[in-house]
Amino acid sequence: SRFEEANLHEVMKENIKLATYDVPTPVQKYSIPVITENYDLMACAQTGSGKTAAFLIPILSRLFGKAKKLAAPRPTQGARKFKAEPLVLILAPTRELATQIFDECRRFCYRSMMRPCVVYGGADALPQKNELAKGCDILTATPGRLNDFLDRGIVSLPDRMLDMGFEVEIRKIVQKSDILDDGTRQTLMFSATFPKGIRSLAKDFLADNHVFLT
Ligand code: AMP
Repeated sequence: SRFEEANLHEVMKENIKLATYDVPTPVQKYSIPVITENYDLMACAQTGSGKTAAFLIPILSRLFGKAKKLAAPRPTQGARKFKAEPLVLILAPTRELATQIFDECRRFCYRSMMRPCVVYGGADALPQKNELAKGCDILTATPGRLNDFLDRGIVSLPDRMLDMGFEVEIRKIVQKSDILDDGTRQTLMFSATFPKGIRSLAKDFLADNHVFLT
């Protein structure tokens, strides 16, 4: 099967073409309809299997369809105390992975209303803060730097979350974002491995009727 057959936004279909992704990888083929139908998902697939696009394509495609209603707040000119309120949060355990995911975000957000940003530790916070201050709809972050920005009031989280990094940091972030009480939350976990810590997060954060792919 091909991406054209999937029920995706025209802008997303164009960007998939520009990326020259002709055929969905297996994890994409199975994940995209599950995510589009709003099920929570735990997907185990190896590095290089196309996990990133498997969750980005359906999530961003859905946002494109609601872009006008949904776009995160933009800073008004001269606003000095702008707080980024991303619609989608993607947590990654390392700077390298965060950067790779951000690059995919940029590729798929091309010619859409959505603005992606990335923040990670081990680098100067100011340029990252300046990027956020231009508006941020989709934030890819490592947990430590995100918690720092949350504490400093640079970022505030609504009730949406994707992917995952470190268990303790994740639990802190989930608590700060209040997402456990939100009935409309869709939680997607993609991992190459399925160790105990991840299983316990899955049990706590995924809906009982979540889909499990291996
Ligand atoms: P990932 O497993 O998400 O790290 O992706 C591995 C690599 O495969 C990345 O460089 C992607 O850009 C690329 N990729 C993902 N999906 C596809 C696809 N359907 N067709 C061709 N390349 C892809």
